[in-house]
Amino acid sequence: MSTSKPADTARTAVVLFTSDLRVHDQPVLRAALRGSEEVVPLFVLDEGVREAGFAAPNRRAFLADCLSDLDAALRERGGRLVVRSGEVVRETAKVVADTGATVVHVAGGVSGYALRREQRLREALSPYGCELAVHDEVITVLPPGAETPTGSDRDHFAVFTPYHRRWAAARRRAVLAAPRVVRVPKAVASDPVPARKKVADTSPGLAAGGERAARKQFSAWLAHGSSGIEAYENRHDDLSGDATSKLSPHLHFGCLSPVEAVHRAEHKGGAGAEAFVRQLAWRDFHHQVLAARPAAAWSNYRERHDRWRSDAQEIAAWKAGLTGFPVVDAAMRQLAHEGWMHNRGRLLVASFLTKTLYVDWRVGARHFLSLLVDGDLANNQMNWQWAAGTGTDTRPNRILNPLAQAKRFDPHGDYVRRWVPELAMFEGSAVHQPWRLEGPERARFDYPDPIVDLAEARARFERARE
Ligand code: FAD
Repeated sequence: MSTSKPADTARTAVVLFTSDLRVHDQPVLRAALRGSEEVVPLFVLDEGVREAGFAAPNRRAFLADCLSDLDAALRERGGRLVVRSGEVVRETAKVVADTGATVVHVAGGVSGYALRREQRLREALSPYGCELAVHDEVITVLPPGAETPTGSDRDHFAVFTPYHRRWAAARRRAVLAAPRVVRVPKAVASDPVPARKKVADTSPGLAAGGERAARKQFSAWLAHGSSGIEAYENRHDDLSGDATSKLSPHLHFGCLSPVEAVHRAEHKGGAGAEAFVRQLAWRDFHHQVLAARPAAAWSNYRERHDRWRSDAQEIAAWKAGLTGFPVVDAAMRQLAHEGWMHNRGRLLVASFLTKTLYVDWRVGARHFLSLLVDGDLANNQMNWQWAAGTGTDTRPNRILNPLAQAKRFDPHGDYVRRWVPELAMFEGSAVHQPWRLEGPERARFDYPDPIVDLAEARARFERARE
C-alpha cells in the first residue's frame, strides 16, 4: 500500500470516511485537521458497494445509525457530515472540484475493491492538482504487510501462531484524542443523512450502531465481571452466555478503533484481556491474508480439489434453521433474528455446511454476508475458508460434530431452547437429540428429523479429501 504525503499548507482537505466512522482515535481526520484550515468530512453512499451485492439491509440500517452519530459528533465540534450518493470516486472528485481541496485523506483498505478505489481516486484527483493521502493503522491494528515471515520471500503470514507472536511484539501507534473543533466550508451541499427506519427487511433483533453506542458498550465490557472481559477467557465459547464483546459490527464500521481497543484492554490486563486481544490479532491476521491475496475473497486460498455437493433442499434447510440438529438450527436462527451469531455457532454451522453436507463454502459465505451486521470480506471469507479447510487452518480436514459441540458448549441446552422454541420442553441432553424419543413423546413436537446421517457424512468427506 503506498502512502503519499499531503502538502502541509493545504487550505481545504477532504476526509473520505469508509470503514472508520468515528472521531476518537481517528488518524485520517486528525491528519486532515493538522494540515488544513477547513475539512469536508465526506461519506459516499457508494453505488459500487450496492451493485456488488454488499449492501445487505442489516448493514445498511447499522450504517445509517453510524452516519447519524458521526454527524452529531461532528456538529458538537462545529462541523457536520457531508453525505453524497453515487459512484465514490466521481462524487469525491466533485467535492474536490467544488471546494478546491488540495488533498483527500482516506484510510487504507485491504479488499481488492478498496485497493482499486485508491488507485482510481489517485487518477481522478490528479487533474485537480489534488493529492491522495492513504493512512494505515486505522482499520487494523497493524497495517497488512507490516509483518512478514523472517527468512522467506512470502508477503504475508499463512499461519496464525507465528503471526500472533510477531504482532504481539510489534510497536503500535499511540491512541489519538478526538478533535475539539472541526471547521467545514459552509457552501458544501449534503444529501440527508440516511435514516435507519427507512431500511426495510432488517433482522428484528438488530443492534444499534454508532460511535457512542460502541464506546458505551466497550466501557461496559471492560468494567463488567461475570460477562465482561474478566470472564472472557473462560466463557467466550459458552453459547448461551452472551459473554463475548459483541463489538464486531462496531469494529467492522470503525465506530471503535481496533488500536484503541487493544490499548484499553491491555491497560485493564489479566487473562481475559489477553484472550480478547488475541482475537483482535485474528482480525488483523485475516486482513493481511486478504490484502496479500485479494482473490481469496472468492477463490480457494488452498486448493483441495473439492467436488462440492449442492443439494438445494439441504441448503435451504441449513439456511432456515431446519436441519434437525438443534444447535445448528439455533445458531442459524440467531443469525436471522439478530444479524449476528456467536463465534462458536459460526464455526459449527460452517463445518456442518462445508464438511457434513459437503457444500461449497461460498454458498455459506454469501448467505452470511446477506445477513451479518458485521459481514466483512476479510473476516467472513477467510473464516469460511478456514472452516472449509481451504484456508489457513493447519488441520484442514477436522470436522466439528454438532452433537459433541452442543454437549460441550451448550451443556444444559439453554441456547437451543432460546432459539428453537419448539424444543423448549426438552431438558438436559435430550434437547440436542430430540429425535431419539419414541412414540407419543415424539409426536408432541413439530421438529424435523436430521437431514443427514453424521457417520455417513463423515465417511463421504474423508473419502473426498483423501
Ligand atoms: P469477541 O469474541 O468479543 O472478539 C473481539 C473481536 O475480535 C471481534 O469483535 C472481532 O472483530 C475479532 N474476532 C474475534 N474472532 C475472530 C475471528 N475468528 N476472526 C477474525 N476476527 C475475530 N467476524 C466478523 O467481524 N465479520 C464476519 O463477517 C465474520 N464472519 C465469520 C464467519 C465464520 C464462518 C466464522 C467462523 C467467523 C466469522 N467471524 C466474523 C469471526 C467471529 O465469529 C466474529 O468476529 C465474532 O463472533 C464477533 O463476536 P464478538 O464481537 O462478540 O467477538
